[in-house]
Amino acid sequence: MTSSQVSAQGIRDQIAALQRDAAQTADLVERTQSLRDAAYLALDLGDATLAMTCAVACLDAARRTPDLSLQARAHVTIALSMSNVHDDIGAASHFREAEGLARSARDARGVALVSVNAAHHDLERGHYRGSTLRLLGLLRSPYASALTEPGEQSMDQVFHVNFTRGAAGALLGQGSDQGQHAERWRLQQAELRRQLEVSVRALRRLHAGQEPLVNSLWRLDLLEALLIHTRFRGDLSAAHALADEWVALADSWVLPAQQGKALLGRAELHAQEENWAPVARDARQAAGLFGDAQPTRALAAQQLLARALAAQEQWRAAFEVQQSLSEQAERIYRAFMQQSARLRVIERQAVEAEVRAAAFAEAALRDPLTGIPNRAGALRRLDQLCAAAQRGRPGAVALLDIDHFKAVNDRFGHAAGDEVLRRVSSEVTRAIREVDQLARYGGEEFLLLLDGLSLPEARRACRRVGALITALDWSDLAPGLKVTASIGVTTVTAGQRREDILREADAAMYAAKAAGRNTVRLAVTSSSDG
Ligand code: GH3
Ligand code: MG
Ligand code: MG
Repeated sequence: MTSSQVSAQGIRDQIAALQRDAAQTADLVERTQSLRDAAYLALDLGDATLAMTCAVACLDAARRTPDLSLQARAHVTIALSMSNVHDDIGAASHFREAEGLARSARDARGVALVSVNAAHHDLERGHYRGSTLRLLGLLRSPYASALTEPGEQSMDQVFHVNFTRGAAGALLGQGSDQGQHAERWRLQQAELRRQLEVSVRALRRLHAGQEPLVNSLWRLDLLEALLIHTRFRGDLSAAHALADEWVALADSWVLPAQQGKALLGRAELHAQEENWAPVARDARQAAGLFGDAQPTRALAAQQLLARALAAQEQWRAAFEVQQSLSEQAERIYRAFMQQSARLRVIERQAVEAEVRAAAFAEAALRDPLTGIPNRAGALRRLDQLCAAAQRGRPGAVALLDIDHFKAVNDRFGHAAGDEVLRRVSSEVTRAIREVDQLARYGGEEFLLLLDGLSLPEARRACRRVGALITALDWSDLAPGLKVTASIGVTTVTAGQRREDILREADAAMYAAKAAGRNTVRLAVTSSSDG
């Protein structure tokens, strides 16, 4: 996208195309990415509702994939959309969620991405020191290398923009967290000034066109950052040149939200010089451009306008602006409450969908007759035991086969056979520990997965299970019925394949059958047990 192609309509068309792509693809990863791109474009456009809609749909798609990094990115997107509508609590919780996911996925780039974007959120809140300290923390962390990974210059660019804005802004005495972090701020002065020089040099290279910007829209942010830095340095003629360039670029793209920001930036520069006539002019125009779409920015612009009018002793006009400010503040508050209520509904729906999906996934792992895990559930648990064995944890697996079960069906009927399977399942499940699992492997065969047990311990556990089955009372179901089981046990050892473990347990179970049934046999050693 070259600068001449940027326009509000062009961006809207791009968003619509991305939303279409997302709706049409069955690939959830692709869908997540399209919706994320759409949300960011909507934020650039200044359309908060559209951004939120895309961000929520993005998170919904990401949550249905097992990809934690992708989910982390979706949480960042929703955090920025919430930040945009001043839902600080929501934004903070999604940034936290994103960081946790990125860390558990060992995704360094993801962790860095969270920091850089959370820093942006800090800046939007006027937390200049907080933002700067956060980015310095990132630089010192092992995740810093993710910023400069080859082919990843985009995050590097956003880092330098955010760092310059925050550090220069804070040094200029701006920001609502001026008095905070006093000790850390003092201790890190030298380092932050050094980094500010590095970041500003990088921005100047981008400004001069020596390096390409990843996203031409970022040119606006770049100008904003450089403007704050020149103001901090006190080079006001350079600052005016940057402010004018910023306003002209935003005007040429006809993006009202961006035009408003640029005008407000220039108004603040004039205010620094107490040159109130141009402050009033730019602030008034900015307030009009922000309008209802960007109510909090509009409020900031009007506040500056009121100050400029009062400074010029235009008391009446200043009073009128002040008066409309309080009305607007109330409107904004109401709109914000509605917006966040709407968002909570969408969020709740997303969670419900997730719970439903989890319930389906759970059901797929359960045996409908007995309610205990089925073969798929058992194999999943076995994989966990294998992974634990890899870490040195002992574990055992037993195959349990009901003896002469065909005869139970033949003598007492299939319904009684079913009841035997159900009762054995529930009684054994009740008798084993929480960490163990009884699963229906198929027919009248069960798999018993024993966590943390050595072979002798597992044999004892299996004997208890065998004795419990033998002792079950069936007089209410089928007088004269006796049920016993043959059990084969083996250990789960590191590096062993799942199929080999199951084959060993199966062989041991057949050994138990061959030894006369109603008994436990161990794999390999085949030592006898009654
Ligand atoms: P063994 O002691 O050698 O294991 O003899 P068995 O009769 O238990 O073994 P076999 O494999 O010959 O028979 C298993 C029977 O289990 C056959 C099948 O009808 C019955 N069965 C399998 N699934 C179910 C079920 O869901 N309900 C009922 N009622 N019976 C089932
Ligand atoms: Mg069998
Ligand atoms: Mg059997």
